Amino acid sequence: MDCQDVKPALSPYIDGELPREDAAGITAHLAGCVACRRSLEELHLISATLHALLATRRAPSPVLRARVMAALDEVAPARTRPGMARHTRLIRQHLRRMRLGPGAR
Ligand SMILES: [Zn+2]
Repeated sequence: MDCQDVKPALSPYIDGELPREDAAGITAHLAGCVACRRSLEELHLISATLHALLATRRAPSPVLRARVMAALDEVAPARTRPGMARHTRLIRQHLRRMRLGPGAR
């Protein structure tokens, strides 16, 4: 497995949606690839933030909001990475629902 194979699979990897052999291949690749480990960390951050937002189901504090927006800015260029797009889309949808997205006050 190389980075081309691993990056699109990171999101399902985190979500435990991959067959065991595929997940093992990714785990092995991550052990030796800093770039993919960094992508995984970003996904973890986004995923954790999203779950925190969904769990509260109320407007987050200004501090949390700022952290979310900063995290989104950081991964925005990653829109081309298929695995990331799904998460950023979910967060943006959620923020919009909570009137916190771009354009909200
Ligand atoms: Zn890699």
